[in-house]
Amino acid sequence: MKTIIWGSRGSLPASSNARAQRKKIYAAIETAVKFKITKQSDIDNFIDEQLPFAVRGAYGVNTSCVEIREDDASLIFDAGTGLRDYGNALMKNNAGTGEFNIFISHPHWDHIQGFPFFLPAYIKGNKINIYGCHENINQAFRNQQQPLHFPVALEQMAADIEFVKLSEGREYDIAGFRITAMEQNHPGKSYGYRIERNGQKIVYSTDSEHTNEAPDAFLDFIRGADLLIFDSQYSLSDALYVKENWGHSSNMTGVELSLRAGVKKLCLFHTEPVDDDEKLDAILLQTRKYVALSDPSSRLQVDMAYEGLEITV
Ligand SMILES: [Zn+2]
Ligand SMILES: [Zn+2]
Repeated sequence: MKTIIWGSRGSLPASSNARAQRKKIYAAIETAVKFKITKQSDIDNFIDEQLPFAVRGAYGVNTSCVEIREDDASLIFDAGTGLRDYGNALMKNNAGTGEFNIFISHPHWDHIQGFPFFLPAYIKGNKINIYGCHENINQAFRNQQQPLHFPVALEQMAADIEFVKLSEGREYDIAGFRITAMEQNHPGKSYGYRIERNGQKIVYSTDSEHTNEAPDAFLDFIRGADLLIFDSQYSLSDALYVKENWGHSSNMTGVELSLRAGVKKLCLFHTEPVDDDEKLDAILLQTRKYVALSDPSSRLQVDMAYEGLEITV
């Protein structure tokens, strides 16, 4: 299975500005001077090999939206602003028609706000299934497209949009994937999803407050996962003290739980929107060091989610 990140910011889209861009350009030129780059043919290699990700790239601005793909079948997890880019990419590739399956972790705004901008929802003949365990997901989608907030009502979108209520703990077979939901600790509740296909397992667990004393049920849920996409919005100290009960976890807790449950790849997700690219680079480095310190024999691979990141398991 392949996972593609279309949006990974928590709470609201992150911004970038001229000052941030200038800082990257300055750092790139400063490094180029140090490495004495004078030939155009050296530029690509210099960018890829010498510049840190925070200088050569960007973690992106969009809120939660993750695609999990195998062959021609795709599932989408959460309809944050990344869903808009996903829809646009489909349209560009003449793939914006057919049936779409979108799973919602919970109806907080950052997880549904991309839907009014999802172009395939405006195409007659398309079928869009929106799955979730909350009773009120249908209502949340309708509310955000009321005339007060948005010019096009949900009913005016041309696609056939169906809301499907899932039950926690039950296994569903959808588009060739086996999917199970689990309730998580978050204001108003959220649900994590375990996705299995061809003996491989991915867990999408965002907006969930964990401590290192995670219940056994969650450890069982993620046990042996090939990939865990994990809410790591806060630093450990923020998660434990300043922002306790705000409903999010930390990178350190992600590592602890992954090591205990034998997870193979950990993707840090739902990043704090005020953290700039440099800060996220530093958190990733710190997290990898923490893995090496916690268990020198561990092969846990850690990534920081960014728009366009693809992880194959
Ligand atoms: Zn969120
Ligand atoms: Zn939330």
